[in-house]
Amino acid sequence: MGLHEWANLKAHELRALAADDAVVIAPVAAMEQHGPHLPVQVDSRLATEVSHRAANKAHDTQPTVVLPVVWAGLSEHHMPFGGTITLDYETLLGVFRCIVNSVQRHGFSKVLILNGHGGNIDACKMMAQQLSVEISEITVIAATYWLEAASRLESLLEDQPNVMHAGEAETSMMMHLAPDLVDDSDLPSHRTTADLSFLLAGEASFRWRDLASVTSNGVLGDPSTASGTKGEQLLEAASDAICDLICDSQTWSAAPDLRGDHTAEVPFHR
Ligand SMILES: [Zn+2]
Repeated sequence: MGLHEWANLKAHELRALAADDAVVIAPVAAMEQHGPHLPVQVDSRLATEVSHRAANKAHDTQPTVVLPVVWAGLSEHHMPFGGTITLDYETLLGVFRCIVNSVQRHGFSKVLILNGHGGNIDACKMMAQQLSVEISEITVIAATYWLEAASRLESLLEDQPNVMHAGEAETSMMMHLAPDLVDDSDLPSHRTTADLSFLLAGEASFRWRDLASVTSNGVLGDPSTASGTKGEQLLEAASDAICDLICDSQTWSAAPDLRGDHTAEVPFHR
């Protein structure tokens, strides 16, 4: 079964996919600086690629269709380095409210917001919650591909435990997908410490800061450890994990309601 890209299909083919209870993958990522060696499209390209591979793998078990990537996300923390387009949360939520409403009105009931950008992680969870409450008869799942695939990616990486900004993993995947867009002429000089503690305060509190407070060149990690071969392995592992998420019936199961009739003899409102 070939890949089902929403944008390439006719309306009647999409009606048929809705009748088949297909999963709609809605990729979201970013257009932001990725250091001196990678293009600004990285997150959007990778989210698209993982979505397409996962949909292809899942399709025989669970029909799946992939929307075009929402190519801008919450990238305020990358603005100091240039080349970055950022949305605010209200705009991103507004876009996804319209997307999810549209597919629900066409009869789809399963949406996976597949995120490929660190700055969107919290926002995607918030959107999944908000839209699940607002829009009836639809399940909205939020996934960030490298978090869903964390256990599979760690063993493939040498320099970092998981995907970090413009480091080993992202550079590897871009070397595989678009080597002409990677400047590999001086990768060792782009190495920085991959330390995310700049976002912490106290024992477990969050403090917002932009990336200029932790990296001189917009990179986190060591891109010189990247290779195209590793990139292909990472993309396969990530899309395997997303395929498993899509095909697991538990992902889409209805929430149980464990309330009894009442407590203290006062009935629950239903
Ligand atoms: Zn990135």
